[in-house]
Amino acid sequence: MCLKPGQDPLPNVDYFKPDVKCCSYFPKLPNYLVGGLLSDNNPAMDEGRKRIREKIHKRIGITPQAVDVPKKYSVLIKLGGIKSFGKNSTLICPYFVNEGALCSIWKFRDSMCSTYFCKSVAGKQGLKFWDVFHSYLNQVQDILCWYALDSLNCDVRSIWDYVNSRQNDDLTPDDLDEIPPEEATYRDLWRDWFGREEEFYRECFHVVEALTKDEFERHAGIINKIFLKRLQDARDNVVTPKIPPVLKKNPDLKAFETPDGKVTIKTNVAFYSIQKNLFDVIGLFDGVKTTAEIQKMVHEKYGADLNEDYIHPMFFNQIIIPA
Ligand code: SF4
Repeated sequence: MCLKPGQDPLPNVDYFKPDVKCCSYFPKLPNYLVGGLLSDNNPAMDEGRKRIREKIHKRIGITPQAVDVPKKYSVLIKLGGIKSFGKNSTLICPYFVNEGALCSIWKFRDSMCSTYFCKSVAGKQGLKFWDVFHSYLNQVQDILCWYALDSLNCDVRSIWDYVNSRQNDDLTPDDLDEIPPEEATYRDLWRDWFGREEEFYRECFHVVEALTKDEFERHAGIINKIFLKRLQDARDNVVTPKIPPVLKKNPDLKAFETPDGKVTIKTNVAFYSIQKNLFDVIGLFDGVKTTAEIQKMVHEKYGADLNEDYIHPMFFNQIIIPA
């Protein structure tokens, strides 16, 4: 999604900025993931730990449930975040490391960061699969963080009420000035764990880490089963797609030869840079010949195997479409 150095921009392509990538996002990190990060001793995540500790110290968005998104950020992202996604530095993730454009909490990133792809070889179906996977993981994340709170005998009801009271777009002067909650409110939220927030998050991680698959399924119940079924269906659509035997090159496909000898092709699903030979092969899909006949031709002419690793992505990305 980023323009490479020396590459000419394609018309009508909205490139991401290389120093933003897909990280103009602020993850809500559930308690056990924060604990996992704090318990981990991989030096590669020292920076992430430092940043989380600074956040905990500032007490903004810090609850027993999660290290949450500050309200000012949530409102800004709703107003302009989608349009400017990948392009604005104002909404860059607090865990993004400029040098090398890396993530400082990679192993403990949230459900969104773990499942987000700006493109998929399986086109719309692929993006749909990742979207369903995101909803599923989000659900799992939610179950696990409330499970940890319950296991540690927290006052789940008051934490729930506090978290929900923050789920709106009403920005108070304190939200705008990024001032933490009143000391009494914050103490009330943390109760016995006040002042020991890091220790608490680590405990959450240990509680979740000890949970077995069977125990998890018991806690997650019917909702988990429904989500898994949806996920299975979304996966089947990608792995075993129904592709008709006769296909044609998408007449709306745009192609641009680039100085590196490749061809950039663009459909309304995505754009890709491909070898010139493959582009010539796409032209063989004329809506008359079957895919099997074209595969035979390609094998005879190029000695190449035009197998489903090529056909499926081309079909998913509407480079070749039903005749
Ligand atoms: S947590 Fe990591 S992957 Fe996710 S937005 Fe931030 S820097 Fe990017």
